[in-house]
Amino acid sequence: MRTWDVAIIGGGVIGLSLAWRLRKRGAGVLVLDKGEPGREASYAAGGMIAHCDPHVRPELIALISGSAKMYPQFVRELIDDSGESPDLREQGTIAFLDESSMPACQNACPLDDVELSQREPLLTLRGRSYFLPESSVDPRALGGALIKAAKRCGVDFVTGSAVRQVVVEQGHAVGVRTGKSQYCAAAVVNCAGAWASQMLPLGMPTRPVKGQIVCVVPQPGSHHAGPLIQHVVRTPEVYIIPRSDGRILLGATVEEAGFDKSVDPDTVQRLNRAAVGAVPMIREMRIHDAWAGLRPASPDGLPILGESSVPGYYAATGHYRDGIMLAPVTAHLMTQLVTGFGTDFDLTRFSPLRFGSSS
Ligand SMILES: Cc1cc2nc3c(=O)[nH]c(=O)nc-3n(C[C@H](O)[C@H](O)[C@H](O)COP(=O)(O)OP(=O)(O)OC[C@H]3O[C@@H](n4cnc5c(N)ncnc54)[C@H](O)[C@@H]3O)c2cc1C
Repeated sequence: MRTWDVAIIGGGVIGLSLAWRLRKRGAGVLVLDKGEPGREASYAAGGMIAHCDPHVRPELIALISGSAKMYPQFVRELIDDSGESPDLREQGTIAFLDESSMPACQNACPLDDVELSQREPLLTLRGRSYFLPESSVDPRALGGALIKAAKRCGVDFVTGSAVRQVVVEQGHAVGVRTGKSQYCAAAVVNCAGAWASQMLPLGMPTRPVKGQIVCVVPQPGSHHAGPLIQHVVRTPEVYIIPRSDGRILLGATVEEAGFDKSVDPDTVQRLNRAAVGAVPMIREMRIHDAWAGLRPASPDGLPILGESSVPGYYAATGHYRDGIMLAPVTAHLMTQLVTGFGTDFDLTRFSPLRFGSSS
């Protein structure tokens, strides 16, 4: 029977980034996904690398700023390995903040009305605002590029069948079992996002937190080349994320709705109205699509990274609203951990063991 060094449960951006990184370190890697890789939360995301956001949890600042710094090199390597670009945009963010919020990064600068209109002429919203040196990617393109890079490097994939169980022998993880087959691996990593709790005999305590998001596109015949705005714009009501091909994303709700991924037409209209309130020209665009995804949230809202109470069985999940941003650093640190090297960063705070021996 074939044996892999590492079996990764879940081919979202977290599992795919880790698979690619592990393979480049020489490990034999198998990714198993219940559906098509890259099609769950990672397909739904806006793609902001929002390391300056005032709501960044203090415990996450070091990880988040480390990941944001890694992004340009991560993307360069990904383009080399896949031949595809995830549309990394480094024009920055304009954020409207309430009086009590301060940006979480250095090099943020307050903007007055003149600077606002110089930077983003079609943005008419006014208020306490900052330029933040952030970036964004297109998470769908990122997922596609990661799949291609991983395959080209020799990562194996099993798709369309859910892992039900981590196989444990003599107290150590030795593989995974789907409904149909068993796969042997010296280490197993649970990257199953909002479904990570469903693994036997030991789930990771994530729950789904629904997010709805809207995509608007230029009307046919529009003379605008590229997006109407260059920066990501964040207001308390909506965030507006331009893509280089002219699409603009308007996000997002944060809802406790179980595994429901339905889209509510009133929510779509509300997000669109809020965006038009900030950038009136968005009224001239067409609502192309709207969708919902399930963010993986842990009980304390922090990622779950590290070895579980079962030796050889690891978790890399619970990235909640930050999984796109945290993918490079997660892949880097988990590669170090799984291959037996010390990690550059102390992961104790994020250990699955903080939830007790049942994880
Ligand atoms: C609307 C919205 C906007 C967002 N915007 C941003 C943003 O701007 N910036 C940011 O950083 N983050 C953002 N996020 C959060 C981000 O999308 C997630 O944190 C990230 O995608 C989590 O990645 P993941 O790989 O852990 O999970 P997923 O992408 O959900 O991947 C998990 C994978 O596991 C598979 N799986 C599940 N169970 C099994 C099983 N039993 N066997 C095999 N496979 C299984 C699934 O099929 C899936 O492919 C947003 C999320 C949403 C919903």
